[in-house]
Amino acid sequence: MPARGVAILGSTGSIGCNTFRVLESLGPEKFRVVALGAGRNVAKLADQIARHQPDLVSVENEKVTAQLKAELHKRGVSVPRLVTGEAGLVEVATHPNADCVVSATVGAVGFVPTLRALEAGKRVALANKETLVMAGELMTRAAEKSGAELLPVDSEHNALHQCLRGEQRSEVRRIILTASGGPFRTRDKAAIQAATVAEALQHPTWNMGAKITIDSATLMNKGLEVIEAHWLFGFGADEISIVVHPESIIHSMIEMVDGSVIAQMGVTDMRHAIQYALTYPERYPSDLAPLDLARLSSLHFEEPDLERFPCISLAYRALRTGGTLPATMNAANEEAVQAFIDERISFPDIPRVIESVMDEHDVADLKDLHAVIDADRSARVAAQAAITQRSREVRVTGVA
Ligand code: MG
Repeated sequence: MPARGVAILGSTGSIGCNTFRVLESLGPEKFRVVALGAGRNVAKLADQIARHQPDLVSVENEKVTAQLKAELHKRGVSVPRLVTGEAGLVEVATHPNADCVVSATVGAVGFVPTLRALEAGKRVALANKETLVMAGELMTRAAEKSGAELLPVDSEHNALHQCLRGEQRSEVRRIILTASGGPFRTRDKAAIQAATVAEALQHPTWNMGAKITIDSATLMNKGLEVIEAHWLFGFGADEISIVVHPESIIHSMIEMVDGSVIAQMGVTDMRHAIQYALTYPERYPSDLAPLDLARLSSLHFEEPDLERFPCISLAYRALRTGGTLPATMNAANEEAVQAFIDERISFPDIPRVIESVMDEHDVADLKDLHAVIDADRSARVAAQAAITQRSREVRVTGVA
């Protein structure tokens, strides 16, 4: 069989870089990189182009295009076809020689390109959970229509995909997502109130980008994953549970109607999930260190604390309500997380901003792409208003 073509959206990010490590370990006879989409990390992108010679590369804008050209000339590397912006990402996602698209951009920017890849019948290895949160219905409908496969790269969903292989849906009682609990798992409410950006960026078990690391600290990441699991596997809000498991060795579990629980375990390295999504239904040897359970000796589990981590309840509410509310919540969260990173609002302001935007939102049906984009835009405007108000309160009263 000829090498399968891979396009990577978000090639210079954490998942993108790990995808290259997987592709390099599998070898060029299995996969060939045909197109890359990135933002503005010119140095890293130039490395990737030099090594893999893709046909097509998309960057943020013309300014980055010029910088990238200059960098490639300097290195004596031939320049691939260069495109920009969302239209550029869509070209990457629908490249005729791409059999598989790794969707690993951060946040809402990957939404339209991922949808187009599914419409074009590509296998999508999905790391961008926001796309399913915003418009799971549109995504899954597009995949069904074209016959595209949607393979989760998110470790929990990748685990669930493995657990559900060969099982009858009617024989599964519920799915159980594990959560590391984030850096504030053992902190009391007062300490969480005072959390700094640097503290929130310290993830105990996974090494990831800034946005998802903050989401892991608020546990919104797990909330987003509940919605993601709903769309991937068709379980309702009442059939999806969360258990905090600090070691992150069990990546998730399913509970069968007879009470049997099936768990997927592994080392905490995203390369496993990426490789699985690329090579499914086959499995190939991996150079990852095997799991050493005897050395771990114990695994711990606890209930998630909904009071200290209100984002979980917000996500369940968005899933139960449906329509445009999940997209609204997602956009408000992105804005609030960025405002926290920029030190405009405090850590506990993140759920407050999201909740106020959700409370104000008039929920509509998710008819089409425009409904999603409208909900996303208006939620960002509303979130910015809420953020400005909160940051003003902080300045006036001196407390968050
Ligand atoms: Mg995850």
